[in-house]
Amino acid sequence: MRLTVLGGCGVWPEAGQACSGYLVEHDGFRLLVDVGYAILPQLLQRLSVDELDAVFVSHGHPDHCADLNPLLRARALRDDPPAPLPVYTLAGALDAVLALDRPGMLDAAYALHEFTAGDRLDIGPFRADTRSLPHWVPNAGVRLAAGDRVLAYTGDTGPSPDVVELARGADLLVAEATYVHEVPADSKGYQSSARDAGRQAAAAGATRLLLTHLRPGTEHAAARAAAGAEYGGEIAVATAGLVVDLP
Ligand SMILES: [Zn+2]
Repeated sequence: MRLTVLGGCGVWPEAGQACSGYLVEHDGFRLLVDVGYAILPQLLQRLSVDELDAVFVSHGHPDHCADLNPLLRARALRDDPPAPLPVYTLAGALDAVLALDRPGMLDAAYALHEFTAGDRLDIGPFRADTRSLPHWVPNAGVRLAAGDRVLAYTGDTGPSPDVVELARGADLLVAEATYVHEVPADSKGYQSSARDAGRQAAAAGATRLLLTHLRPGTEHAAARAAAGAEYGGEIAVATAGLVVDLP
């Protein structure tokens, strides 16, 4: 399994970067997990738009799904549109982004598979176990298994025993870490810090930790240090172009 980070910014994209978007590949199958702001140009630097096999979206906040609109435009409006793109998400999560264009214009570009958090999905070679995690809007964390490798991704979430269960024994935990040490009072319970991510990676026994969704301007070294105070495994920060192989 190979993860390529297309974007790892929280909230809004920094210069030359993008918000949440992760290309996960196995056996030639290409799954895009989240499609935040500015993901499409990052994707197009690496593959042609028709080479994508499926999309999974954790929740309906635009920093996780806004670029689904240009992605579908790029497929629907080309001279030789590819087959509908399977898109997996929670019921209703994509209603707003799918309503941006003239009704019907993009309908042939996607096949929507809405699921309930807790469902197990088969997406190409991946077994995807989903889990509801606490956020302001419904958010589905996902545990992707293929071969004998496991990647867990939180989407956006406050700290929760469910994050630990999602990541239990995973080879890689990709964890939202919007803040470094403390989550401000108005976001407590709905977002996490790098310290939370480190604590939960340790509790889960995850082999590696990738911190993502840092607020623009956050010092990456400070986030790594905060997580490292709680967790002894390898820690990195998600930025566009980072590749993590899980051989
Ligand atoms: Zn969110």
